[in-house]
Amino acid sequence: MELEEIVIYLFILITGACIGSFLNVVALRAISKESIILPPSKCPNCSAQIKWYDNIPVLSYLFIFRGKCRNCGCHVSLQYPIVEALTALLFLGIFLMFGASIKTLVLLILLCLAVVLIITDLKKEYLYDSHLWSFIIISILYSVFFRYGVNNIFSVLTGALAGALLMEIIARGAYFLVRKENNGNEEDTTDVNNIEIDEENLDINAYVKKYKRVFGEGDSYLAAGVGALLGWKYLILAVAGAVIVQALCILPQFFKSLYDKKEFKLLASISAFIGIAIIYWLCSNIFSLNIFVVFALVILLIFFAIDSIIRLKKSVNESGFKAIPFGPALLIASFIILFYGNYITQFLKKYIFFI
Ligand SMILES: [Zn+2]
Repeated sequence: MELEEIVIYLFILITGACIGSFLNVVALRAISKESIILPPSKCPNCSAQIKWYDNIPVLSYLFIFRGKCRNCGCHVSLQYPIVEALTALLFLGIFLMFGASIKTLVLLILLCLAVVLIITDLKKEYLYDSHLWSFIIISILYSVFFRYGVNNIFSVLTGALAGALLMEIIARGAYFLVRKENNGNEEDTTDVNNIEIDEENLDINAYVKKYKRVFGEGDSYLAAGVGALLGWKYLILAVAGAVIVQALCILPQFFKSLYDKKEFKLLASISAFIGIAIIYWLCSNIFSLNIFVVFALVILLIFFAIDSIIRLKKSVNESGFKAIPFGPALLIASFIILFYGNYITQFLKKYIFFI
């Protein structure tokens, strides 16, 4: 590496870290409903104003105030340095992929919006309209100018619509599955019109009952943005990827708890999924499978995957485990697919679907 390159990379890392620091503020002040510009940074516990030398991204946390407020000694959340460091690294990564260009700039803006959405979803399980609409609009602009071309604006909008529709179907469809599971023959007599929803302290059970859906509209808007960004084919891949990201977060905690609890239905469902997957894999390697058999096996796989995931989520909720919400998982999967979608589809075609 030449000196010039090192200076450029350092500059990008520092810029990324500073913007990451700003994104923390944007997300947290959206939650606290304060202005982004005023008041200046203060300790969330004692409200002491933060000095400039304590406000240097990552470095201050690690070396200067070491995670504790100077004034009251309270613990300062690790969220700050983690978001700053990740934003810096992702900035550098995107720059290395696409160089100094308008495309890079637009991707960095999308990344910033994704970071803010992820923080508010993780902290509050809430996505704010202003962030969602910005994400949708920038996604459409990115797709129109850098992916599909101005002539194909219709397919970009179709992708957005597909995203919103898909999530609406899942949210409402899953409600009927879950309701059957929970109530059995009992009729729920609560009058849904009397349920009050407090947006500040969301009671998820009341929400599910009142709106007859298992997650909020925020995820539908988010999926509209992802659909515009990726197109409807990759959108489906991204939703599947999000479920995998969530499962990866849950699985280690979950298998640990299998030692304590005896979850036979869940075990049966997961075993069925793995069993069919192995049969499918072996058969497709040995015989050339009829397209209808492939279709039937894939439907069975999807059925047991969804069944396992619903049971898994219930079991995890009852155990007090925390899965990351769907929104952040979808955003993480979407960015991976935005950059590596071609490789992933090639891999799937070659090794999973044998096309
Ligand atoms: Zn303090």
